Amino acid sequence: MTVTRNMTEFRCRVCGELLRFDPTDPSSFISKTEHDDFFGMQLTTYRISHDSRNERHINSVVVDHAGLFRGYRDAYIEPVSSADTSTRGTYWVLHEETPAIATTENVTFALLISRTERWVVDVVSPERLNASEMAALVLDRVEEAWRVYDTIPQPLEMTIADMKLHVWTSDSRVLCVGFTNHSLVRAVDAVARHIVDQTQDSIVPRRRKLHLIFQILETDPEMSPAILLRIMNEDMLYTTFHTPFEDRIPSIVERTAQRHPIAEEILGPLLRGYATLMDLLEGEYCSRYKEVIELVDFVNRRRILG
Ligand SMILES: [Zn+2]
Repeated sequence: MTVTRNMTEFRCRVCGELLRFDPTDPSSFISKTEHDDFFGMQLTTYRISHDSRNERHINSVVVDHAGLFRGYRDAYIEPVSSADTSTRGTYWVLHEETPAIATTENVTFALLISRTERWVVDVVSPERLNASEMAALVLDRVEEAWRVYDTIPQPLEMTIADMKLHVWTSDSRVLCVGFTNHSLVRAVDAVARHIVDQTQDSIVPRRRKLHLIFQILETDPEMSPAILLRIMNEDMLYTTFHTPFEDRIPSIVERTAQRHPIAEEILGPLLRGYATLMDLLEGEYCSRYKEVIELVDFVNRRRILG
C-alpha cells in the first residue's frame, strides 16, 4: 500500500509519457549527482531512461530532498539498435520543446556536435536547414583537416553549400558558427575552447543554455570563461525553488538588497518559484547576468536560506 510513497514522477521531455522512479532504488535510474546546498535546498540530479518503439529517451531531472521533481537538465534520444546500418552516419538532433532560433543579430547558424556520442544541438538554425546533414558534412571536413594538418587551425574556416562557417574542434566536440558579420568572431573565439573542451560528455548542454551564451556575448563580448562554464554546467538554472520560509521572504529580500540591489527585483520571484534563473537571464536580466550570478553566490555563501 505504501509502494508509491518514494516514487518521483515527471513527464518525459521527448514524448510526454508520465515516468516514475524511486530515488532510493539505484536500479530505477542510470546515475545520480548530489549538489551542494542551493538556495536552502538539497537537490540531486538523476538520469533516467525509458524505451519507446525504436528509441531510448534519456532525461536528466533535478529532484529535491522530498523526492519532488524540480526541473530538467537535459533530454535526448538514442537509437535502441545501434547495429542498424540505416542509422550509421546519423547525428541525433537533441529534442527541445521550443524551435531553434532562426537567426540572431550576428549569428546565422550555430551547431554544437558531439563526435563521440553523435548528438547535435541546433543552437541557431533556420527552419529550412537539415541540422543532422549539416553535422555529418562538417564532421567530414573536420576529419579531412585532421588528416592533413599536424595542428588543426582554430577556427577552421569552411564553406558548406553556400554557408561560410567558423569551426572550433576538440577530440570530442565541434562548434560550428556562421556569422552575419565579423564583429562577434573574436568574442566566440575567446570562449569556444571552453565549449568544445568539455570532458564530461554525460552533460549534454541544452540549446537554451548555449543560446543564452550567444545572447550574453552579443551584449558583452568580454564574458569571462568562468561564468560561461557555470552557465554550461549549472543544473540549478532550470530549477523551480520552493523555500520553506515563505513568511520570511520580504525580510530576506530587503536584507539581501542592501548588498545586492538586484535582489529587490528578482529574489522574491525566485524564492516563490514564479521564475527560474534561466527565465530571468534569457529575459530582461541578460545584460545584468553578472549581478544575477553574484546574487546567487551571495545567497549560497552566506547560507541566507539555510
Ligand atoms: Zn519518452
